[in-house]
This record gives sequence, structure tokens and C-alpha cells, in this order.
Amino acid sequence: MCLFCKIIKKEIPAKIIYENEKVLAFEDIEPVAPFHILIIPKEHINTINDLDDKKAAVFADMMMAAKNIATAQKIKNKSYRLIINAGEDAGQTVFHIHMHMIAHRKLCSL
Ligand code: 5GP
Ligand code: ZN
Repeated sequence: MCLFCKIIKKEIPAKIIYENEKVLAFEDIEPVAPFHILIIPKEHINTINDLDDKKAAVFADMMMAAKNIATAQKIKNKSYRLIINAGEDAGQTVFHIHMHMIAHRKLCSL
């Protein structure tokens, strides 16, 4: 079982900040900003490259989680960046789809 599936099953502790039937969000262990969480689907999917039409629905749930978290966590100006690394060369180190949500830091333009 992958690391994030173990976090979903509460076999590995994490600072959970949001949870519903489809998604879980918890603090990143090595934050790169004052607010840095990971939003993950409860269904195990390795990478975006493994999505199909049915599995892709998890992204609607992940985006709604981001929106709800921005309100619940009082993210300043509701301004945040969402990042997904897909594949090793892009920096993906945990192969269970996850979206980084980063805020409360000045972020450079892309
Ligand atoms: P990636 O580089 O795959 O896009 O992001 C993986 C993220 O998972 C990294 O930012 C890393 O800090 C985080 N991470 C790795 N292991 C753990 C862990 O055991 N607990 C938590 N909360 N985050 C982790
Ligand atoms: Zn997993």
C-alpha cells in the first residue's frame, strides 16, 4: 500500500485539515510556504497519466475541496496556488495523485 493510502487509512499520522467521502487534505511534512497542504483522492491513482473518463471525476472533488478549504482556513484574499507534479521528471515523488495547495507566501508569476 502506498504512503498516502496509509495516511487515508490513518495508519500513518498526518495533520488532517479536511476530509469527505472522496478526498482528504493534510499538511505537507516539508512545507514550502506558511500554508502548504496536499489534497488527495481517496481512490488510489498513481498519476494523471493513469486517469480515464471515470477516474477524472476525482478532480472536481479535489477542486471543490480547495475552494472549501480556502474559506474554512481563511486563506488571505482567497489566493493560493495549486500544483500537480505528474511523473518523475516533473518532481513527483509520491505516486498517488495529489494536488499541492500553497498560500500565505508571495509567489512568482509563471
Ligand atoms: P510530490 O513531490 O510527489 O509532488 O509531493 C510529495 C509531497 O509529499 C512532498 O511535498 C513531501 O514533502 C510530502 N510528503 C512526503 N512524505 C510525507 C509524509 O509522510 N507525510 C506528509 N504529510 N507529507 C509527506
Ligand atoms: Zn495510494
